[in-house]
Formats: sequence, structure tokens, C-alpha cells
Amino acid sequence: MIEDSILAAARALGPASRVMAFTGAGVSAESGVATFRGAGGLWEGQPVEEVATPEAFRKDPLHVWRFYEARRTQARTVRPNPAHETLASWQDRFPGWTLATQNVDGLHQAAGSRNVLELHGGLWRVRCCACGRHREDRTVPLPELPPRCAACGGIERPDIVWFGEMLPRDVLEAASLAARDCQVLLVVGTSAVVYPAAGLVEIAASAGATVIEVNPQASALAHLADVVLRGPAGELLPRVAATLAAS
Ligand SMILES: [Zn+2]
Repeated sequence: MIEDSILAAARALGPASRVMAFTGAGVSAESGVATFRGAGGLWEGQPVEEVATPEAFRKDPLHVWRFYEARRTQARTVRPNPAHETLASWQDRFPGWTLATQNVDGLHQAAGSRNVLELHGGLWRVRCCACGRHREDRTVPLPELPPRCAACGGIERPDIVWFGEMLPRDVLEAASLAARDCQVLLVVGTSAVVYPAAGLVEIAASAGATVIEVNPQASALAHLADVVLRGPAGELLPRVAATLAAS
């Protein structure tokens, strides 16, 4: 019964102070964001795994930027859903709150979440390939493609973790620390089969945290989850929040 699982989730969260949420593409998909990662993602007939790579960018930066312009254009039209909003509200309820995401669309921040750990980077940031300078740029479309660094004139790239690249070390470390330290880990909208998702869940579970999974589909981490909420996060997280508020 889903009601029992909602109650179990609220009971785990009720006394907790250190809570971590880890979100994936499913949360964005509920807002209508096209998910390119994963099976069968195509852009102009080309597998995304061939567009979102450092090699593709070196070969043809304009081509890769056109893909990201399409994603930025699409991301501008979507809005946070009740899952994003519920998670944003919990940052003020739990003193030790950490939100880590695999999503790059900025919807958690649009819902009001602060200090989001973006494991795969962000769609609204660019980074100079020559000097490494980061900056935020929400202009759609960008006036010049590829954009150029104002400091050194180098070509700028999306500040996104591409296929074959390492995750940003400081972000991953912060997420691992939070996973080790949390009392409750919410895993939302990710099948958790790929690194680092699986690793974070294992860290939290082996450190004794209660793992709550919220996902419409059965996932690879179900055996590590203490509570499984099978369904859309935009529907189930507000119900957990309502139960939590009433208890
Ligand atoms: Zn530069």
C-alpha cells in the first residue's frame, strides 16, 4: 500500500536533522524536460553519446554548441514541479540538508533550492577552455557561437560533464560526505545504476542511513532501499510532506 510507504517515509524523516536528497532525470522529466542521457537519446539523428563529448567539441565546437542551444531553449520553457518545490521547502525544515542532482537544467534552483550540488554541471554556466574561467550565462540564444572568453579570448564550452569526463571532484566529495553523514537519504527519479548514484546510495546505506527511493520504475537500488515509493515524485513527495507536517 502506497499509504503505508508514505507513512514510513514521514516517520523516518520526522526525527531526522541530517537529510540528503539525490535526484535524477525522472524529476526533470515530470516537468517535461527531454532526457537525452540514457538509452536511445538522439539529436539530429546522432546518438547523444557522440555529441556530448570532449572529442566532438574539439572537432566541431559549433555543432556541439547548437545541441546545447537546443537544450537551453527547451529548458527555458519548463517550470519546476511539486517535487522540486517540496525538496526546496525541506532545506528550511532540516538543519543538515543537502541536495545533490544529476540534472543540469537548473529547475531545483528555479524552485528556490540553494547550494545545489550539480554532479553533472549546469546548463546555464559556461567555462573557458583556455583559462578555465567559469561564468553564468542565461542568454538564449547566445549572441555568438561558440562564445568567447572576455578575459582571454578562448573558446568557451558548456560547463557540463560530458561522456568520458570526470565528475567535478569538489562536488563529488561534498556529496559523498553528505551521504556518509545523513540519517535519511532520498533517492528521487534516478535508476541509480550509473556512477556515482549507486556509490552514494551504498555509502549512505552502509553508514546506517534510512534509504527512501521515489521512482516510478523499479530500480537497481531497490535492495538497498528501506522504503520504496513507487510513482511520480511530483505526486508522492508532496504527500510525504503533508504527512510529515501533520505528524
Ligand atoms: Zn579564458
